[in-house]
Amino acid sequence: MNGFPFLQCQQIDVILYAYFMSHSPEHVECLIIGSGPAGFTAAIYAARADMKPVLYEGMQPGGQLTITTDVENYPGYPEGIMGPEMMDLFRKQAVRLGADIRFGMATSVEFTPGGPQKVMVDGMKEIIAETVIIATGASARWLGIPSEQRLNGSGVSACAVCDGFFYRGQDVAIVGAGDTACEEASYLAKICNKVYMIVRRDEFRASKAMQHRVENTPNIEILYNSETDEVLGDTVVEGLRVKNNVTGATRDIAIKGFFVAIGHDPNTKIFKEFLELDEQGYIVTRPGSTYTSVEGVFCAGDAQDKMYRQAVTAAGSGCMAALDAERWLSARKASVASI
Ligand code: NDP
Repeated sequence: MNGFPFLQCQQIDVILYAYFMSHSPEHVECLIIGSGPAGFTAAIYAARADMKPVLYEGMQPGGQLTITTDVENYPGYPEGIMGPEMMDLFRKQAVRLGADIRFGMATSVEFTPGGPQKVMVDGMKEIIAETVIIATGASARWLGIPSEQRLNGSGVSACAVCDGFFYRGQDVAIVGAGDTACEEASYLAKICNKVYMIVRRDEFRASKAMQHRVENTPNIEILYNSETDEVLGDTVVEGLRVKNNVTGATRDIAIKGFFVAIGHDPNTKIFKEFLELDEQGYIVTRPGSTYTSVEGVFCAGDAQDKMYRQAVTAAGSGCMAALDAERWLSARKASVASI
């Protein structure tokens, strides 16, 4: 008699097998964490190199491009392409070539020089990987004022493309002066009645082309030297208190939507104990390569790039990471075989 009176031995074997399979680590040659242009390109190259890559997509499958509009600067799309559609094509290409794309999030890691590397997915599934490619990208930054937090999702958003539609025909504001803010302001200007751009200095950070576009859009009003004092409204956004940081004067403007476009932070927290990061949290890679400070761990895309941060540069570094990983692993296998 076993401890499970209603179960036959064979059934117990099957249950135990299923239990151990779900609780024992899975071994992979190449694990890719993240699914923007960097992650998918790495998957395409690693799959073609027969590394049987497994890619975990993370919280935002497709990465930041899934919350952008027209991508006009990615070569090969003469008419431009929508960000989400482009990521869908990247994904399909990776799958067709044999990459195993999975929904899930790397929640912790244990990196050892030379590996193998341990990565925990969703806090419960352990992966042992011979090589790891980090392509976790970066996330939107917030102003950090209480009213912004309180009204987040009730008129406050970090994604004009996702949420702008809710405010069609109405007045909105966007804070930021980089390319993202300009791109989103232009997008909002097409569907909203009026767009206020809150710029904290007396000049833009964005490229001249983007800047000219917003300056020449009649329904965008740029408020220079201006900071957001408070987002107004009890349960939904009703306005914005803007302070001129030269004169100190404040002004309330009536708006229904408030968009924050002030840059991004790299998604690298889970790696900080194991990898060298710079003062802003970006993963440090060896110049001209995707090698991190731990052998066998590579990094591509915005998690290591604060300079260019373009889809095309992210894709390029994803390609580099897969090539670096493949060459590193081949050299390692050759040296083990020669012992
Ligand atoms: P950036 O870091 O380039 O710009 C952030 C902007 O937000 C800056 O103007 C900054 O002001 C402002 N800002 C930061 N913190 C605050 C704050 N607390 N209050 C008010 N304003 C604040 O980020 P982006 O997301 O715009 O761009 C990131 C990268 O992606 C860039 O390299 C950009 O060129 C690229 N990009 C390219 C696109 C394209 O080519 N199609 C589209 C979108 C982005 P300040 O200038 O005073 O520091």
